[in-house]
Order: sequence, then structure tokens, then C-alpha cells
Amino acid sequence: MTNLVDIGVNLMSPAFDRDRDAVLAGAQAAGVKTLIITGSSIAGSAAALAFAQTHPNCKATVGIHPHHAKDWDAAAKVQLQEMVSPEPSATPMAALSAAIGECGLDYNRNFSPPQAQRKCFEDQLALAAQLKKPVFLHERDAFEDFLTILKQYRAHLPGAVVHCFTGGMAELEAWLALDCYIGITGWICDERRGAHLIPLLQHIPAERLLLETDAPYLLPRNMPRSIKGKSGRNEPCFLPHIAAFIAEILGKTAEQLAAETSANAARLFNLS
Ligand SMILES: [Zn+2]
Repeated sequence: MTNLVDIGVNLMSPAFDRDRDAVLAGAQAAGVKTLIITGSSIAGSAAALAFAQTHPNCKATVGIHPHHAKDWDAAAKVQLQEMVSPEPSATPMAALSAAIGECGLDYNRNFSPPQAQRKCFEDQLALAAQLKKPVFLHERDAFEDFLTILKQYRAHLPGAVVHCFTGGMAELEAWLALDCYIGITGWICDERRGAHLIPLLQHIPAERLLLETDAPYLLPRNMPRSIKGKSGRNEPCFLPHIAAFIAEILGKTAEQLAAETSANAARLFNLS
């Protein structure tokens, strides 16, 4: 049995409202031992932390997704800071916050104005630097601005992962040059839009690769219908399918890939 870490699961999504505990149990039974629950708003991050508090082997990221950047203000900053504050470092809630994020820039649909996104992103990077927390990063169609901003803060951040990497070689080289971890989702299992990621995998150092489902989004397209069902909902229990696909491409056993990526997640997120 493999021991995987799903570093990006949107477990507080309404898609899981009816069976959240069962989804977690299913993931853990499938060998996905640890879940990093993605926080993407103040309320969502608080809910993720509260869930993690009562469910072993769950941690949460705490942050504001670029889609919600228009909600970023002084009050939100205080709330976010309280959720990750290491003062006192022994508080159980603070120990459950694995990273600040997801934060970043998304110019694909611009649900928040780009200027508000940049402000929200920069403030969260500054907070992560101040609180010495790693960051869980989201970048879509915003490479230039994202790179410019991240460069200014990277030296002050203890760690960073570019989650759901879907870019090309130039982007990959830029993130690796900034010593970022690379999060790969089931996007790579989609022969229509993810095939370009396959040759890029070999350029990701073994000690920088992380695995994630981004559930309930990004159901792996090449998974047998008998397994994935008809709902279209992705679940963290499907991470072993993504891991097996990647392991085969890299010529590794599933166990080796699980060991490497779990060690990476433990290092980045300070998992015990
Ligand atoms: Zn994202």
C-alpha cells in the first residue's frame, strides 16, 4: 500500500457537503494518507482549519484565491494572520495551517481586477515571509506579472509550490530557478490538453515533484468509467491513479514515486 499526500484538495467545496467524511475515509483507504485541504477564501480557510482540527492527517492552506482578491482588505488580512499566526506557536490551529494560499494571479477569467489580484498576492507573500510559512501558489495566464512579484519575495519565503502546473518548459525553468516545488494534477492524464506535460516531467527534479488531485475539479480523463463513475466529480481517492500514470512515464515504481513525493510534501509543509 502506497502512502501518498494529496497536496491540493478542495475538500470544503459544496461538492463534498453530503459526504465529506466518507470522501476522506475513501482517500485514506486508497493510500492517500495525508490531505492538504486548500483554503481559497477567509471563510473557506477557516472551515478547512476547523475540519483539519477534528480529522487526523489533514492540514489546511490558509489564503485568498485570486478570484476572491476583490474581497481582500485590512480586516481580511487580520483574519488571515490570526489563522496562521505562530504566536503562540503551540496553538493547535496554527499548527494545522500548512501554508499560506492558495494565492497568486489568474488572468484567465479575471473574476477580480488584475490590480486587486496583484495587491492581494503581494500582501499574502509578505505575510508568509513575516510568519515564515511556505506558500501554495496559483498562476494562470499571468506568468510575467506573477514571476516579477514572486521574485521579489522568494528569498524570504521558507518554501513554495506552484500548484496545478500546466505551463511549458519556459515556465517550468522559471519556477525551478526560484526553487519552487511543482504540483502535478490529473491534468496530465488529459490527452487533449495535458499531453505537453508528459515530456516535461523528466525535467522536474525528483525532490521537487508533488502530486495533487485539485478535487472536485480535474477528474483524470483517462480513468476507466467503471472507477470514476458518472458524477464527473474528482476525489482524493483517485490520486493513486495519477501517481501510477506519472510513475510509469518516469520509469519508477508507484512505491518509489509515493515515497519521494511524500517526503517532498513533508519537507515543504512541515508534516510530522
Ligand atoms: Zn488553483
